[in-house]
Amino acid sequence: IVSNSIEGRDIAYQMHPNVNLRKYEKTGGLVIESGDGIYVTDNNGKRYIEGMAGLWSVALGFGEKRLAEVAKAQMEKLPYYHTFSYKTHGPSIDLAELLISIAPVPMSKVHFTSSGSEANDLACKMVWYRSNALGNKDKKKIIGRIKGYHGVTIAAASITGLPRNHESFDLPLDRMFHTSCPSYVHFGKDGESEADFTARILNDLEELILKEGPETIAAFWGEPVMGAGGVLVPPAGYWEGVQAILKKYDILLVADEVICGFGRTGKMFACETYNIKPDVLIVSKQISSSYMPLSALIMNDAFYQPIADESDRIGVFGHGFTASGHPVATAVGLENLKIIQERDLVGNAARLEEKFLGRLAELAKHPLAHSSRGVGLIGALEIKPWGDAKPGDAAAAVSAALEEEGVISRNIGEALCFCPPLIITAEQIDDMFDAVGRALDKVEKTRA
Ligand code: PLP
Repeated sequence: IVSNSIEGRDIAYQMHPNVNLRKYEKTGGLVIESGDGIYVTDNNGKRYIEGMAGLWSVALGFGEKRLAEVAKAQMEKLPYYHTFSYKTHGPSIDLAELLISIAPVPMSKVHFTSSGSEANDLACKMVWYRSNALGNKDKKKIIGRIKGYHGVTIAAASITGLPRNHESFDLPLDRMFHTSCPSYVHFGKDGESEADFTARILNDLEELILKEGPETIAAFWGEPVMGAGGVLVPPAGYWEGVQAILKKYDILLVADEVICGFGRTGKMFACETYNIKPDVLIVSKQISSSYMPLSALIMNDAFYQPIADESDRIGVFGHGFTASGHPVATAVGLENLKIIQERDLVGNAARLEEKFLGRLAELAKHPLAHSSRGVGLIGALEIKPWGDAKPGDAAAAVSAALEEEGVISRNIGEALCFCPPLIITAEQIDDMFDAVGRALDKVEKTRA
């Protein structure tokens, strides 16, 4: 890599997240220069289908002019203002109102943040604040799940159940616990039916609650479909069972829809897909198609009221970000959600689900594949590791071959994950998965 090339300067000056930094110093990265629709183009002019919508997020694809126009107009009118204390502005109010109107359950208030991690971190602080408000000073523990992902700030990373986000960071915090992962493919025992598996992991949850003491547990955190854990779809009856247990022990439910929200599962929210009734809903990513950093906590009245009381007692709700409800971000978010509604992109995800999952299921018959799974327009192909492959190497090899074929995917463990922009068409799904077939054949040949 030439040191004054763009790749060389990237290595010289930029530290990347989620990478082996020593390896990256040698190999460098893929420079993406432009985007349009479901495609992005690199600095050598090679075009890719962005099969992951960036980081599970660019619902409208990469060239939505209306979002650029709204951002420019808002930049010119009021580029920045805040929602700190008693100051406020139109774009944040408009978006908060829209979010309350489309929320999957009756909700009362929206609080804006800028990333999924921030939103989860704040939700955790608010859970603690609320327990104090209610005089439940010992009710502070939080239960996340193995392979759950909620971000990388200290509380969010602690609730996350992935070792790579804990190791050497001195996490998780000691109030955080992790219960079983609801992935039957990965954690089902030999001969165990899916129903028995579900009953077993629900029992694990109840046992953990009883062991720690129900009066000490404040909240349970979960993504309706786990994303960064490798697109793990819950088994039938799982969410019903979880909610019954939480209700029995008076434990709050925080649903993290950072990936699922705004159409990914074929409904506006995955809480509708799985009949989940959260106290707090966390959204980000597709809220603005990630054209601007934006996230939000959407909370019900029973969650909000004690917090308001506590702020009254103390004299202030002592929390706030400079960019909370940023006018350009919320204006873009509002326009983005209007476009999702106008073009019925939630319906598009629902209509294309059969095609999307059908093509994945066909690919699962390939000798290198193990199985497939998904819902709406999020799915994964589980790759079968060959004899001498190290964990994760097989899916990494297929993902690399697929990139050569012009499709960006993400390999997580043995899973090859797909989460394309919601604007994708049936033909483009075929293009994407035809390329996956070619990549599998190519890798199979190199193994022979
Ligand atoms: N929650 C979920 C479910 C996520 O998938 C992510 C990011 O991928 C986050 C939270 C963290 O969001 P951010 O990367 O914006 O901090």
